[in-house]
Amino acid sequence: MSEPKSKNIHWHGANITQEERQEALDARGCVVWFTGLSGSGKSTISRRVEQLLLERGKFVYSLDGDNVRFGLNKDLGFSPEDRTENIRRIGEVAKLFADACCVTTTAFISPYRQDRDQVRAIMAEGSFIEVFVDTPLEVCEERDPKGLYKKARRGEIPEFTGISAPYEAPEAAELVLKTAGRSVDECALEVIEHLQQAGFITG
Ligand code: ADP
Repeated sequence: MSEPKSKNIHWHGANITQEERQEALDARGCVVWFTGLSGSGKSTISRRVEQLLLERGKFVYSLDGDNVRFGLNKDLGFSPEDRTENIRRIGEVAKLFADACCVTTTAFISPYRQDRDQVRAIMAEGSFIEVFVDTPLEVCEERDPKGLYKKARRGEIPEFTGISAPYEAPEAAELVLKTAGRSVDECALEVIEHLQQAGFITG
């Protein structure tokens, strides 16, 4: 991991421990990192998980693919370097949310294994939950919710993941979600069940 540019900076810890924070808020944070092809279902499932957990009064927030490109990452494109920087920044933001005891779901293609592993590396042990939204390219292309595959096939989108840019599937994801032929709710509930088993959601 690269060193900060500034030299005279010091890390300030909180006045309370992470355990005390969790106890005070009765919540444990983590990052639920959805990865998969465009149209695989990351956003849809991430939003549904967020909704279902909010309905149960849980502290949860969904960081979404396109949305951060309007603000935090508006200076980044889709070249390999920019994709890496995109994921690095999102990882840092997600880590802060998780430290604040929020169940943080993220929905980014994040095609490079190394970029995802870098995010895993900055997170507290066990609090990075990689969810591979394992939907075959043919199914994603058939869904084509934003018409992007059609454009990509016409050569109108350079460096489109799955068509003209690579996607590196996780080798040891905490959860592999098959979505083809399944409902959104089925998939969202599978994620919530995993979070319950891992102790991030109680009750
Ligand atoms: P991504 O965020 O991965 O690009 P989206 O969530 O935007 O994908 O789009 C997924 C599309 O697939 C949506 O139109 C959604 O309604 C549809 N879909 C069908 N079945 C499922 C499922 N089981 N899980 C998630 N999405 C599904």
